[in-house]
Amino acid sequence: MYELTVRASKKYKITITKGLGLFRARVLPLVKGESVAIVTDDRVNGLYGDILDEFFSDKRVIKIVIKHGENSKNSANYLRIINALAENDFTREDTVLAFGGGVVGDIAGFAASTYMRGITLIAVPTTLLAAVDSSVGGKTAVDLKTGKNLLGTFYQPSAVYINTEFLKTLPAKEIKNGLGEVIKYAFLSDTVKIADLKNVDGDLIYRCLKIKRDIVEKDEKEKGERALLNLGHTFGHAIEKLSGYKLAHGACVAKGLVYSIEISKRLYGLSDKTVSEMYGLLKSAKHDLSCPFSAESLVAQIIADKKRKGERIDFVALKGIGKPEITEIKISDLKKMAVDYESKISAF
Ligand code: ADP
Ligand code: ZN
Repeated sequence: MYELTVRASKKYKITITKGLGLFRARVLPLVKGESVAIVTDDRVNGLYGDILDEFFSDKRVIKIVIKHGENSKNSANYLRIINALAENDFTREDTVLAFGGGVVGDIAGFAASTYMRGITLIAVPTTLLAAVDSSVGGKTAVDLKTGKNLLGTFYQPSAVYINTEFLKTLPAKEIKNGLGEVIKYAFLSDTVKIADLKNVDGDLIYRCLKIKRDIVEKDEKEKGERALLNLGHTFGHAIEKLSGYKLAHGACVAKGLVYSIEISKRLYGLSDKTVSEMYGLLKSAKHDLSCPFSAESLVAQIIADKKRKGERIDFVALKGIGKPEITEIKISDLKKMAVDYESKISAF
């Protein structure tokens, strides 16, 4: 068993265990009040719905099942959850339990953070991506027609419980998706090594979350250092958006990390050894590292992003493995470097 305490605006514990035998004993004491609203999706409910019903038989349970997939992370489903809480007389003494991947975590988190100005939220992430990333740190959101995650809050859960047993039913594609984000951590800190990536277990998740925890504790609301967690995401998000969200987030982060390496090379003149170690990490999870979009179109997409500051952008570059740095770059320079990299790969 692994435990981590997060000291953000709320202090809470992350517990990582294996074997469903411990689920009930660990999670039940975390549930505040008589009533619990389990938010999940149809796939996860198909796999684990019966177990959940049994585990929470001592409580008054309502279950809100949304359809799987990002399209469900919308304001209509958000209101569905809120209305279910209200109609079932949930008070601030009760609990919302998010049981699923990032989609469920984000929408259930947003509902918990706004219902009666905030009720207890327990996160049980069931995908690798949600376990190592979205379930910790307190970002909640739903998508609007105009863009992803535009409506949301910072709201820390009261507890995060991860059980690696749930990851066993994940399709290989979802594990690979999660590994895109895991490799990001391997670049941010030298505590996640290439050998660790071969075995997706509690230890790997713990190492990643320790990195995230340390960053979030210093800068919960992303005013500075938390931006380090955006490593690989400037280009990653651009790729994801240009693909019309057909490419998975983790796959796009992996492709985005290629640009992080190439731009860092041009900024800092990284040694060949460092660059090959970085590519070694990226290739270890067998991600397709090619990019279907031109450097020009990617930079045009980055310009359209709300995160830029006029002609400049905060970019997370790497001085080495475990040595990330937030550096302000002129977008014209970013474009030059990306175009230069593109011309080199197309020369092969
Ligand atoms: P994320 O990758 O951000 O966690 P989702 O919440 O969309 O995104 O989850 C990805 C997919 O994996 C969804 O189709 C979801 O139903 C499915 N899923 C989530 N958890 C499990 C699990 N433990 N076993 C099998 N499929 C799962
Ligand atoms: Zn991400």
